[in-house]
Amino acid sequence: MLDAEFECRKCGKVVSYKQYELDRFCPHCGTFLRPRRQPKYWVFQFNPAIYGWFDWIKENKKTEQWLTSQHARYIREGDKVAIWASGNKAGVYAIGEIVANPRKRPLNPEQEKYWTNKADVYKFLEKNSVIIKYLKVIIDRPLLEDNCSRDPILSAMEILKQSQGTNFPLTKEQWNRILELIDEKHQINE
Ligand SMILES: [Zn+2]
Repeated sequence: MLDAEFECRKCGKVVSYKQYELDRFCPHCGTFLRPRRQPKYWVFQFNPAIYGWFDWIKENKKTEQWLTSQHARYIREGDKVAIWASGNKAGVYAIGEIVANPRKRPLNPEQEKYWTNKADVYKFLEKNSVIIKYLKVIIDRPLLEDNCSRDPILSAMEILKQSQGTNFPLTKEQWNRILELIDEKHQINE
């Protein structure tokens, strides 16, 4: 609860929990404050054998549509996502942010050719999907599964315990650790 924030419905100003404890009303306009939703963190997984994500991203695509087959009720705009490739070089290859809430939308036609099996394209008509905006792409220096398994914080990641699916929860601590490790790698490689 320490990092909880409260948002004013009327003027949109955000105040800290500390301020909220002093006064339940907005210091700017006096309206009753309500808790602001904290962003959630996720791992989204693709299988390079069935989706040509690497080709897609090499064409410098800034946004991408992703299925939310799991947890769609909890995934929201503003949440952060680590993109995970399965296979023999499994790991994190990009990070991004959800910019459109889950809903049923046909697959963006530009993405269709990257699916090996066209039947997968129709999943987008049956299931909810979101739009991700990429914040950082690290295909040349991924955070590999081995490093995650050895890390005291990341070894508890859901995807390492049970790898079936597209969408996996991540704790805030795990997300921060991913950012930290990506940054360290960045410094070493430069
Ligand atoms: Zn206000």
